[in-house]
Amino acid sequence: MKALITGGAGFIGSHLAEFLLSRGDAVDVIDDLSTGAMANIEHLKPSPRFRYAVDTIFNEPLLSERVDNADVVFHLAAAVGVRLIVEKPTRTIETNIGGTERVLKAASKKGKRVFIASTSEVYGKGARVPFREDDDLVFGPTTKSRWSYAASKAVDEFLALAYHKEQGLPVVIGRLFNTVGPRQTGRYGMVIPRFVEQALAGGPITVYGDGKQSRCFGWVGDVVKGIVGLAECAKAAGGVYNLGAREEITINALAKKVAGKVGGRISIRRIPYHKAYEEGFEDMRRRVPALDKARKAIGYRPTVGIEEILDRVIAFMKGSGSPRSL
Ligand code: UDP
Repeated sequence: MKALITGGAGFIGSHLAEFLLSRGDAVDVIDDLSTGAMANIEHLKPSPRFRYAVDTIFNEPLLSERVDNADVVFHLAAAVGVRLIVEKPTRTIETNIGGTERVLKAASKKGKRVFIASTSEVYGKGARVPFREDDDLVFGPTTKSRWSYAASKAVDEFLALAYHKEQGLPVVIGRLFNTVGPRQTGRYGMVIPRFVEQALAGGPITVYGDGKQSRCFGWVGDVVKGIVGLAECAKAAGGVYNLGAREEITINALAKKVAGKVGGRISIRRIPYHKAYEEGFEDMRRRVPALDKARKAIGYRPTVGIEEILDRVIAFMKGSGSPRSL
């Protein structure tokens, strides 16, 4: 199979590329390196089945040519990370909506299979956990820039489903929950690489808010297999699927675990949200995926728990662990 991965030099995209190459597929990557990094794909370059273009998906001739050449398109290029989104809302909205629009348009010309990466952010402030794919989406006001991410991804989903309905495009949407593993950077706010980096530097670990908010962290290797499974499942086309893990942990407990695993006397410091992000920032209290829909469709099951995830990420960040997720 020939796969095109937009955003293939990013954290999840590079693990996806690695997985596809490992089973014999050909992989084409387009990435503008805005949040991705050459270092993420350096080890893939020797493969004769790997090719990449440092360019933007807004380069339509390039995008069309690469889409035409592919059997399946994985669209992962997007503005990611809460910090980036709060700081650069224009870029978030334009990249997410404009980028997806171009990918869908190019794919629809030849009816190519497409996977669209969406996010658990689209559930917004929904309070009924676990989040199910057909739940209502509950957003805050447009004056709070965090919601531009959720809204832009929701528009992407609407657009993908519209292409499926009107043109029969075989497109499937995966809502990725907090995904972690080696090569994820803390630069855009992601909590686990930040906590590990802080602990390895001797602390303090910065917990935002009261630390009682919770998340479920999914191992990138599991999520990547889910992405491929959905893209290859004909019956999944036209559907929306959660991908992530079910084990829930508060940010306070996470901070303690990281401090304990790294060892030494590492302090934990609480920082109010308005100092960490911006005035009036709204966080999600709990975010838990219902995974039965993905399990029924493709047998999706997370295999790596939080303890093992932290051990692997700590080893990787210390320079002794594997950069791979398989
Ligand atoms: N967080 C934190 N300290 C940090 C970075 C993040 O306490 O240095 C918190 C953040 O406020 C959120 C959770 O960790 O409640 C997960 O944040 P992340 O940005 O990784 O993902 P989110 O679930 O917000 O998309």
